[in-house]
Amino acid sequence: MSQAPRIVILDNDQTTGDYTIFFKWLYWLESTQVQKYIDIVPILTVFTKIFEENQIFRPGLKPFLQRLAELKREKKIDYIVIYTNQSETHNPIYDKNGAPITIPFLLQIMYNCLAEESIIDLRLTRPADDGSHSGKARGQTKSFSRVFDALRIPTHLGASKTLFFDDLIEHCPETDDIGFSEHGHVRVADYRVPFDPYLFLRLCRLTISIVEKNCRGTYKRSAAARDLHLARALTEIMETQLFEQLCEPYRKCVQIFGDPKSHGFSKYIERVEKTFNDIELIEV
Ligand SMILES: [Mg+2]
Repeated sequence: MSQAPRIVILDNDQTTGDYTIFFKWLYWLESTQVQKYIDIVPILTVFTKIFEENQIFRPGLKPFLQRLAELKREKKIDYIVIYTNQSETHNPIYDKNGAPITIPFLLQIMYNCLAEESIIDLRLTRPADDGSHSGKARGQTKSFSRVFDALRIPTHLGASKTLFFDDLIEHCPETDDIGFSEHGHVRVADYRVPFDPYLFLRLCRLTISIVEKNCRGTYKRSAAARDLHLARALTEIMETQLFEQLCEPYRKCVQIFGDPKSHGFSKYIERVEKTFNDIELIEV
């Protein structure tokens, strides 16, 4: 490679979607020990469809990723990168096959499901040694040097052909950092959807039903029975005591944020086209 590499970098939270409900599902999975009985990839295939229908992903993310995949096939983009300040090292958990269950890992699989092919070349997360799990590090500036080092690209080629999608301006690396042009920072609107307790219950129930199906004939005599009983019990609690508490913020969020459809991804396709494919623009 002798020219500036053509790279698209995507942040996760509030950029490609609002994953609050996914954080809560992960917590539920861990607290009930259900993760020991699941095979994570098939569940994610189902979740991807549900998240798309319920606008957990920013509307338009699917055609956006599919267009990126096309540009990559046409050799107009070199790399597609996830760069998130989410952590993968804090209390990691694993499915029954030993696959890691962390939000960035799972989102990478779901992006591939949306694109209908494997499109993510690199996933960068919050460094394990940054000394903070308190949320302080969430606003930290991202570094192009990390991206270039991980992709083994010489830094002297520069980041002038890099597009960096992030909702936070403070995440954007310094403009003098290896030649990145400030025009390459695409600050997307902060995307948030109201937490939907009904959807959360649906995810928990669906997970339990998949585990029960997989364990049929054996689970009654195993530890799974005890854990599933706990998972079911927790779901029941969600439906009764906590349900009203969850519903109230949901109603408030709808009032504050309004219709999330108005913050779609489709307009950003044009930005990508202009940068990497300046011959023709497509309608989405
Ligand atoms: Mg973000």
